Amino acid sequence: MEFEFQCSCCDEIHKGIPSFGTFAPIHYFSIPEEEIEKRVFLTSDTCVIDDEHFFVRGCLEIPVVGYDEKYVFGAWVSLSKANFDLFEKVFDQKESDHIDPMFGWFSSWVWPFYEDSTNIKSRIHLRNDGVRPFIELEPTTHPLALAQKNGITKDILIEIYEYYMHGKK
Ligand SMILES: [Zn+2]
Repeated sequence: MEFEFQCSCCDEIHKGIPSFGTFAPIHYFSIPEEEIEKRVFLTSDTCVIDDEHFFVRGCLEIPVVGYDEKYVFGAWVSLSKANFDLFEKVFDQKESDHIDPMFGWFSSWVWPFYEDSTNIKSRIHLRNDGVRPFIELEPTTHPLALAQKNGITKDILIEIYEYYMHGKK
């Protein structure tokens, strides 16, 4: 079954499971604009803040009830310096899925699953051919962890779509 729905914001029929993401870890957004250039090193996949906080971007994959394809949110996870260095060395190589999963603190807000999601422990699993790693959340009762475990309904995904595409809350 293909995922499709009529958007209540623009009335168009949207097809396919959407994916969204955030271009930087949550910590980035609390840095005053005039300090960003000096304190932040940011690429599409990695971020270093003040030379002491290390983050990588991965895919948070959330099942959608009744569909095979998952909802993917591009989110950030903090890593130790040692793991960050290893990540930079191997993540875009042909084979990197043999690397042990890396521990990291989840470092993004994912609407509508706010509620201190930066306190969730997670593990980053590297994938081959430069595919962004997938993020496994620690199975707790946090709403985001429950969403990853149990999936979300089509209705929730439509709300997510309307929020990220049209700013509807
Ligand atoms: Zn729309």
